[in-house]
Amino acid sequence: MSGLRIKKGDRIRVLAGKDRGKEGNVTRVLPSKNRVIVDGINVAKKHQKPTKATMQGGIQDKAMPIHVSNLMLVCGKDGPVKVGYRIDPNGEKHRVCRKCGAEL
Ligand SMILES: [Zn+2]
Repeated sequence: MSGLRIKKGDRIRVLAGKDRGKEGNVTRVLPSKNRVIVDGINVAKKHQKPTKATMQGGIQDKAMPIHVSNLMLVCGKDGPVKVGYRIDPNGEKHRVCRKCGAEL
């Protein structure tokens, strides 16, 4: 494995778990854990203690990290796709859709 294929800002589809079939945008990447945080996905209810600012506690939705093996990158044209790489003559590496070849 050479790092994560998923980057911050990517649109992904969830393949497994309670949020299977949902799509969202990656808001944070945790490379050491092979996990990412996706807006609105794998949300847990977090009980919050009252703070000085709000003077009240409550329950807040918080997106929990999800393992990248449960996710697939979404191509704007094809939907969820496998990711490939194209290497330019100058050695630059580009992430591409394996279906249409568009850069992702
Ligand atoms: Zn595509």
